[in-house]
Amino acid sequence: MLRCFVEIAAAKSLPDHVTLELEGGERIKLPVEYEWMPPLCLNCESFGHVEGQCPMTKVWRPKVQKAKNVDQVSAGQKRL
Ligand SMILES: [Zn+2]
Repeated sequence: MLRCFVEIAAAKSLPDHVTLELEGGERIKLPVEYEWMPPLCLNCESFGHVEGQCPMTKVWRPKVQKAKNVDQVSAGQKRL
């Protein structure tokens, strides 16, 4: 078994094999097994979190109605 450290672009899918080219020009395919993989977010294609925790996901919240406050202010002005 050979253990190695690899650096892969997050946007690309993980390969299930690597091709080694030997000195004589011979190419051999080595299957790859992953001991551990970081969480991958498919939303922003970054490692470290999953879609449910994605900071790139915008949460839309309804605007707070301020009409009630405006009424209270104008009522106070009338008293003056
Ligand atoms: Zn994300």
